[in-house]
Amino acid sequence: MLNTLRNRFEQGYRTSAYPKEPIELPARYRGRPVVNPDASGDDAVQCAEACPQAAIDAENRTVDMGRCVFCGYCERLSDGRFVSFTQDFELGTADRTHLITAGDLPDLADHSERHFRKLFGRSLQLRQVSAAGCNACEADLNVLATPFFDLARFGINFVASPRHADGIVVTGPISRNMKTALMETYDATPAPKVVIAVGACAISGGPFYGSPEVSEGLESLLPVDLFIPGCPPHPLTNLHALLTFFK
Ligand code: SF4
Ligand code: SF4
Repeated sequence: MLNTLRNRFEQGYRTSAYPKEPIELPARYRGRPVVNPDASGDDAVQCAEACPQAAIDAENRTVDMGRCVFCGYCERLSDGRFVSFTQDFELGTADRTHLITAGDLPDLADHSERHFRKLFGRSLQLRQVSAAGCNACEADLNVLATPFFDLARFGINFVASPRHADGIVVTGPISRNMKTALMETYDATPAPKVVIAVGACAISGGPFYGSPEVSEGLESLLPVDLFIPGCPPHPLTNLHALLTFFK
């Protein structure tokens, strides 16, 4: 007992002060991409052709963050002339189309549903469905339960049964084999319920887009309330989106 208390005292308080205080991410973190409107047409076309995710629209000068896997290839290829990545990790949106952007995102708080805030603002229980994810999106959701992020202090928890949940959080490209399990989990969740798509796979198929084995994104199967882009989204991206949308 004394050892436990000494340990606790020595370690101090480890939980992040975010969102009350800003938090800094490592310099190599790639957040919200910003397209340079003055970039040459050649740079735009070169980046669009090289993007493994077909996420760049050279003509409209946009990046689809729902497809982008944040590999940084376009930034390296154009030496930052066409697109550069900021440190902004606050990327969640309530509308899929908002993820197709030249760099701006609407304030998520302005798009959150008032009835969701009223219903789930004090307590939100979520069932996670890994629909053929690679486990990175899942791991970065799991980490929210650790003392550093301490998601439970905001009244948000992951639960074992959809019957105890207020909504589902879906990761992975939703393979054919997982589709039935996903739909049954959704059906088992009592209404009113929320649906959250986490990661490029759940939003658009991610690196597997175009494969006949996966869906074209969760929105083609269910009404999605919140989109959280990334591959995987940083835990802070998940935390920001959940707090902004529901609190
Ligand atoms: S960072 Fe995104 S937009 Fe750029 S090449 Fe990679 S996937 Fe494509
Ligand atoms: S979005 Fe990326 S990290 Fe998440 S499941 Fe798909 S491949 Fe894995």
